[in-house]
Amino acid sequence: MSYAGALLSRASFPIKLISSRIMPSIIAQNLDVVRRRISAMSLAAGRDSSSVQLLAVSKNFSADAIRAAHAAGQKAFGENYMREALGKMTALYPLRRFIEWHFIGPIQSNKTRAIAEQFDWVHSIDRLKIACRLSEQRPTHLPPLNVCVQVNISGEASKSGVSPSEIAALARDIVLLPRLQLRGLMSIPEPVSGLHIKGAPHRRLRELFDAVNAQDLHLDTLSMGMSSDFSEAILEGATIVRVGTALFGDRPYQTH
Ligand SMILES: *Cc1c(COP(=O)(O)O)cnc(C)c1O
Repeated sequence: MSYAGALLSRASFPIKLISSRIMPSIIAQNLDVVRRRISAMSLAAGRDSSSVQLLAVSKNFSADAIRAAHAAGQKAFGENYMREALGKMTALYPLRRFIEWHFIGPIQSNKTRAIAEQFDWVHSIDRLKIACRLSEQRPTHLPPLNVCVQVNISGEASKSGVSPSEIAALARDIVLLPRLQLRGLMSIPEPVSGLHIKGAPHRRLRELFDAVNAQDLHLDTLSMGMSSDFSEAILEGATIVRVGTALFGDRPYQTH
């Protein structure tokens, strides 16, 4: 068995779950485990571990959880819900300069201004109208907003994201928007189990990424892989893995 295969087949790695109480030491331990795993998988893929960025997905977790992860060296955080995110950003205002905020949830038109003003990255662009609004509303004192096009890789009707055939046209329109910096592609594949099946949607996104780049678009970001499949995603070329549960534990149930 290959080194990568051996790593993948190790049934599980020790992630401790946190329910309601956030324990900073457990978050720090989980971060350490996930970082080691990222390094091991990068090495297995013949890549430098600095080529993979860990995005800590903090939705449904408190500002204290973010503070604990930040204290343990984590810089980039992903949020899905605008109101929840703004509350945490306010609580963490003194850390603003040291935290990179990524918006990864579905985007409604009436939320674009807050996103353009408060976030550093958006992973979930799936239509030109939203991209145009974000570009118009991005304040001039901030650098261009980094964006990824979300691709519906599993072809489910319920999931957001553009179909693979729409990527190139949307990407070409986005690069013309002055206040956005098109960085790459993002996907949320439907959950599957099994080593080879898990890697398949990531491979597909990587191929689509290569095809877009062959058209001179210079994308550098593949945002793919979550707690259950970030190892497979790294083997397939992920440059950002979005990890929530493996860092913070099971999410307390919340309705938005
Ligand atoms: C919640 C979420 C994640 C993290 O999922 P985990 O399975 O908890 O790691 C990643 N990406 C997106 C878009 C999410 O909404």
